[in-house]
Amino acid sequence: MWRASVLTLFPDMFPGPLGMSLTGRALAENIWALDAHDIRAQATDKHRSVDDTPAGGGAGMVLKADVLARAIDALAGNPVTDPRPRLLMSPRGAPLTQARAAELAQGPGAIIVCGRFEGIDQRVIDRRGLEEISIGDYVLSGGEIAAMALIDACVRLIPGVLGAATSIVDESFSDGLLEYPQYTRPQQFEGEPIPDILLSGDHAKIAAWRKAQSEALTRARRPDLWAAYEARKPPARGNKSKG
Ligand code: SAH
Repeated sequence: MWRASVLTLFPDMFPGPLGMSLTGRALAENIWALDAHDIRAQATDKHRSVDDTPAGGGAGMVLKADVLARAIDALAGNPVTDPRPRLLMSPRGAPLTQARAAELAQGPGAIIVCGRFEGIDQRVIDRRGLEEISIGDYVLSGGEIAAMALIDACVRLIPGVLGAATSIVDESFSDGLLEYPQYTRPQQFEGEPIPDILLSGDHAKIAAWRKAQSEALTRARRPDLWAAYEARKPPARGNKSKG
Protein backbone atom coordinates (compact mmCIF):
# COMPACT_ATOMS: atom_id res chain seq x y z
CA MET A 1 0.00 0.00 0.00
CA TRP A 2 1.26 3.50 -0.89
CA ARG A 3 2.24 5.16 2.39
CA ALA A 4 3.16 8.74 3.22
CA SER A 5 5.02 9.28 6.50
CA VAL A 6 5.31 12.93 7.44
CA LEU A 7 7.77 14.44 9.92
CA THR A 8 6.45 17.73 11.25
CA LEU A 9 6.23 19.96 14.30
CA PHE A 10 2.47 20.03 13.71
CA PRO A 11 1.23 16.46 13.27
CA ASP A 12 -2.32 17.57 14.09
CA MET A 13 -2.46 19.32 10.73
CA PHE A 14 -2.76 15.86 9.11
CA PRO A 15 -4.72 14.41 7.41
CA GLY A 16 -6.52 17.77 7.24
CA PRO A 17 -7.83 18.29 3.71
CA LEU A 18 -6.37 14.94 2.65
CA GLY A 19 -9.01 13.31 4.86
CA MET A 20 -11.82 14.65 2.66
CA SER A 21 -13.34 13.99 -0.75
CA LEU A 22 -11.47 11.61 -3.08
CA THR A 23 -8.25 11.31 -1.10
CA GLY A 24 -10.20 10.96 2.15
CA ARG A 25 -12.39 8.18 0.81
CA ALA A 26 -9.34 6.36 -0.54
CA LEU A 27 -7.64 6.79 2.85
CA ALA A 28 -10.65 5.28 4.62
CA GLU A 29 -10.64 2.40 2.12
CA ASN A 30 -6.95 1.72 2.80
CA ILE A 31 -5.96 2.42 -0.80
CA TRP A 32 -3.21 4.55 0.73
CA ALA A 33 -1.98 5.26 4.25
CA LEU A 34 -0.74 8.30 6.14
CA ASP A 35 1.12 8.74 9.39
CA ALA A 36 2.36 12.00 10.85
CA HIS A 37 5.16 12.10 13.41
CA ASP A 38 6.02 14.89 15.81
CA ILE A 39 9.66 15.93 15.40
CA ARG A 40 9.52 17.37 18.93
CA ALA A 41 9.12 13.86 20.36
CA GLN A 42 12.84 13.42 19.62
CA ALA A 43 13.96 16.51 21.57
CA THR A 44 15.98 15.55 24.63
CA ASP A 45 16.70 18.74 26.56
CA LYS A 46 14.43 19.97 29.35
CA HIS A 47 12.82 22.62 27.14
CA ARG A 48 12.21 20.07 24.37
CA SER A 49 13.81 22.49 21.95
CA VAL A 50 13.89 21.66 18.25
CA ASP A 51 15.51 24.80 16.87
CA ASP A 52 18.43 27.11 17.53
CA THR A 53 19.89 30.34 16.16
CA PRO A 54 21.64 30.22 12.76
CA ALA A 55 25.39 29.70 12.85
CA GLY A 56 26.99 32.80 11.38
CA GLY A 57 24.18 35.02 12.59
CA GLY A 58 21.03 36.33 10.95
CA ALA A 59 17.33 36.32 11.63
CA GLY A 60 15.16 33.43 12.71
CA MET A 61 15.82 29.90 13.87
CA VAL A 62 17.01 26.68 12.26
CA LEU A 63 15.71 23.15 12.91
CA LYS A 64 18.42 21.21 14.72
CA ALA A 65 20.23 18.42 12.84
CA ASP A 66 20.43 16.02 15.79
CA VAL A 67 16.73 16.16 16.68
CA LEU A 68 15.56 15.86 13.08
CA ALA A 69 18.02 13.05 12.30
CA ARG A 70 16.69 11.08 15.28
CA ALA A 71 13.14 11.62 14.03
CA ILE A 72 14.10 10.37 10.56
CA ASP A 73 16.02 7.38 11.95
CA ALA A 74 13.21 6.41 14.32
CA LEU A 75 10.86 6.27 11.38
CA ALA A 76 12.95 5.19 8.43
CA GLY A 77 16.06 3.70 10.00
CA ASN A 78 16.98 1.26 7.28
CA PRO A 79 16.85 2.16 3.57
CA VAL A 80 16.63 -1.55 2.74
CA THR A 81 13.58 -2.31 4.85
CA ASP A 82 12.11 1.08 3.98
CA PRO A 83 13.08 2.01 0.41
CA ARG A 84 10.72 4.99 0.22
CA PRO A 85 12.28 8.20 -1.11
CA ARG A 86 13.13 10.72 1.62
CA LEU A 87 11.83 14.10 0.60
CA LEU A 88 12.26 17.53 2.12
CA MET A 89 9.74 20.20 1.23
CA SER A 90 11.90 23.21 0.38
CA PRO A 91 11.66 26.33 -1.78
CA ARG A 92 15.19 25.52 -3.02
CA GLY A 93 14.11 22.12 -4.31
CA ALA A 94 13.35 20.86 -7.78
CA PRO A 95 9.89 22.12 -8.78
CA LEU A 96 7.22 19.45 -8.32
CA THR A 97 5.84 18.33 -11.69
CA GLN A 98 3.06 16.02 -12.80
CA ALA A 99 5.76 13.66 -14.09
CA ARG A 100 7.46 13.50 -10.68
CA ALA A 101 4.12 13.00 -8.93
CA ALA A 102 3.32 10.12 -11.31
CA GLU A 103 6.71 8.55 -10.61
CA LEU A 104 6.24 8.85 -6.84
CA ALA A 105 2.68 7.45 -7.13
CA GLN A 106 4.07 4.30 -8.76
CA GLY A 107 6.56 3.75 -5.93
CA PRO A 108 5.97 2.56 -2.35
CA GLY A 109 5.18 6.05 -0.99
CA ALA A 110 7.34 8.74 0.56
CA ILE A 111 8.92 9.95 3.77
CA ILE A 112 8.35 13.70 3.84
CA VAL A 113 10.14 16.18 6.09
CA CYS A 114 8.39 19.50 6.69
CA GLY A 115 10.65 22.44 7.53
CA ARG A 116 9.70 25.40 9.71
CA PHE A 117 11.40 28.67 10.69
CA GLU A 118 14.38 29.45 8.41
CA GLY A 119 14.66 25.81 7.38
CA ILE A 120 16.75 22.88 8.54
CA ASP A 121 20.46 22.27 9.21
CA GLN A 122 22.24 21.42 5.93
CA ARG A 123 24.05 18.46 7.48
CA VAL A 124 20.86 16.47 8.00
CA ILE A 125 19.89 17.09 4.35
CA ASP A 126 23.28 15.76 3.24
CA ARG A 127 23.74 12.90 5.67
CA ARG A 128 20.20 11.53 5.41
CA GLY A 129 20.08 11.99 1.64
CA LEU A 130 16.99 14.18 1.60
CA GLU A 131 15.69 15.13 -1.85
CA GLU A 132 14.46 18.73 -1.82
CA ILE A 133 11.16 19.37 -3.60
CA SER A 134 9.50 22.77 -4.07
CA ILE A 135 5.85 23.42 -4.86
CA GLY A 136 6.57 26.80 -6.44
CA ASP A 137 8.59 29.97 -6.39
CA TYR A 138 7.16 31.52 -3.24
CA VAL A 139 7.91 30.99 0.43
CA LEU A 140 5.45 29.30 2.79
CA SER A 141 5.79 29.47 6.55
CA GLY A 142 6.19 25.70 6.80
CA GLY A 143 6.41 22.52 4.77
CA GLU A 144 3.06 21.04 5.82
CA ILE A 145 0.89 22.65 3.15
CA ALA A 146 3.54 21.82 0.57
CA ALA A 147 3.58 18.19 1.76
CA MET A 148 -0.20 18.04 1.47
CA ALA A 149 -0.01 19.38 -2.09
CA LEU A 150 2.57 16.74 -2.99
CA ILE A 151 0.65 13.90 -1.33
CA ASP A 152 -2.61 14.97 -3.00
CA ALA A 153 -0.95 15.10 -6.44
CA CYS A 154 0.42 11.57 -5.92
CA VAL A 155 -2.59 9.92 -4.28
CA ARG A 156 -5.07 10.91 -6.99
CA LEU A 157 -2.87 9.03 -9.48
CA ILE A 158 -3.01 5.74 -7.53
CA PRO A 159 -5.31 3.33 -9.37
CA GLY A 160 -8.77 3.22 -7.78
CA VAL A 161 -8.65 6.71 -6.26
CA LEU A 162 -10.26 8.63 -9.12
CA GLY A 163 -13.40 7.32 -10.80
CA ALA A 164 -12.53 7.14 -14.49
CA ALA A 165 -8.91 6.53 -15.43
CA THR A 166 -9.44 8.68 -18.51
CA SER A 167 -9.95 11.80 -16.44
CA ILE A 168 -6.25 11.52 -15.56
CA VAL A 169 -5.10 10.92 -19.13
CA ASP A 170 -6.89 14.02 -20.40
CA GLU A 171 -6.01 16.59 -17.81
CA SER A 172 -3.54 19.45 -17.67
CA PHE A 173 0.15 18.53 -18.04
CA SER A 174 -0.38 14.84 -18.81
CA ASP A 175 0.47 15.54 -22.46
CA GLY A 176 2.43 18.69 -21.73
CA LEU A 177 -0.55 20.96 -22.46
CA LEU A 178 -3.01 22.83 -20.27
CA GLU A 179 -6.54 21.48 -20.26
CA TYR A 180 -9.20 22.75 -22.67
CA PRO A 181 -12.22 24.65 -21.21
CA GLN A 182 -14.95 22.54 -19.63
CA TYR A 183 -18.71 23.17 -19.70
CA THR A 184 -21.81 21.55 -18.28
CA ARG A 185 -25.54 22.30 -18.06
CA PRO A 186 -27.33 24.68 -18.08
CA GLN A 187 -26.99 25.17 -21.82
CA GLN A 188 -27.41 28.94 -21.39
CA PHE A 189 -25.64 30.79 -18.59
CA GLU A 190 -26.28 34.55 -18.38
CA GLY A 191 -26.98 34.51 -22.12
CA GLU A 192 -23.82 32.60 -22.99
CA PRO A 193 -24.32 29.19 -24.58
CA ILE A 194 -22.12 26.12 -24.40
CA PRO A 195 -20.02 26.06 -27.63
CA ASP A 196 -22.13 24.34 -30.35
CA ILE A 197 -19.45 21.87 -31.26
CA LEU A 198 -19.60 20.25 -27.81
CA LEU A 199 -23.29 19.49 -28.38
CA SER A 200 -22.77 18.20 -31.93
CA GLY A 201 -22.16 14.58 -30.95
CA ASP A 202 -19.25 14.49 -33.44
CA HIS A 203 -16.51 13.00 -31.28
CA ALA A 204 -13.69 13.52 -33.77
CA LYS A 205 -14.57 17.19 -34.18
CA ILE A 206 -14.89 17.62 -30.42
CA ALA A 207 -11.47 16.05 -29.87
CA ALA A 208 -9.94 18.33 -32.50
CA TRP A 209 -11.58 21.41 -30.96
CA ARG A 210 -10.33 20.48 -27.51
CA LYS A 211 -6.82 19.90 -28.79
CA ALA A 212 -6.83 23.28 -30.53
CA GLN A 213 -8.11 24.98 -27.36
CA SER A 214 -5.42 23.26 -25.28
CA GLU A 215 -2.74 24.38 -27.67
CA ALA A 216 -3.97 27.98 -27.82
CA LEU A 217 -4.21 28.23 -24.03
CA THR A 218 -0.79 26.73 -23.47
CA ARG A 219 0.78 28.98 -26.08
CA ALA A 220 -0.80 32.09 -24.55
CA ARG A 221 -0.26 31.28 -20.89
CA ARG A 222 2.78 29.05 -20.63
CA PRO A 223 5.51 29.79 -23.16
CA ASP A 224 7.76 27.37 -21.26
CA LEU A 225 5.39 24.41 -21.69
CA TRP A 226 4.62 25.47 -25.26
CA ALA A 227 8.28 25.48 -26.29
CA ALA A 228 8.79 22.00 -24.80
CA TYR A 229 5.62 20.73 -26.54
CA GLU A 230 6.66 22.15 -29.91
CA ALA A 231 10.07 20.55 -29.61
CA ARG A 232 8.44 17.16 -28.97
CA LYS A 233 5.49 17.45 -31.34
CA PRO A 234 5.33 14.91 -34.19
CA PRO A 235 5.42 16.42 -37.70
CA ALA A 236 2.14 18.11 -38.74
CA ARG A 237 -0.57 16.09 -40.48
CA GLY A 238 -0.05 15.80 -44.22
CA ASN A 239 3.69 15.84 -43.84
CA LYS A 240 5.02 12.85 -45.79
CA SER A 241 7.79 12.18 -43.30
CA LYS A 242 5.20 11.38 -40.66
CA GLY A 243 5.37 7.87 -39.44
N1 SAH B 1 14.60 30.47 4.68
C1 SAH B 1 14.13 29.50 3.72
C2 SAH B 1 12.59 29.40 3.75
C3 SAH B 1 12.08 28.70 4.95
S1 SAH B 1 10.34 28.57 4.90
C4 SAH B 1 14.57 29.92 2.32
O1 SAH B 1 14.70 31.11 2.08
O2 SAH B 1 14.74 29.05 1.46
C5 SAH B 1 10.05 27.32 6.10
C6 SAH B 1 9.78 25.94 5.55
O3 SAH B 1 8.61 25.98 4.73
C7 SAH B 1 10.84 25.36 4.66
O4 SAH B 1 11.83 24.72 5.41
C8 SAH B 1 10.07 24.38 3.81
O5 SAH B 1 9.90 23.12 4.47
C9 SAH B 1 8.70 25.03 3.70
N2 SAH B 1 8.49 25.72 2.41
C10 SAH B 1 8.43 27.06 2.23
N3 SAH B 1 8.22 27.36 0.95
C11 SAH B 1 8.14 26.20 0.27
C12 SAH B 1 7.94 25.87 -1.11
N4 SAH B 1 7.78 26.79 -2.05
N5 SAH B 1 7.89 24.56 -1.44
C13 SAH B 1 8.07 23.60 -0.50
N6 SAH B 1 8.27 23.86 0.82
C14 SAH B 1 8.30 25.13 1.21
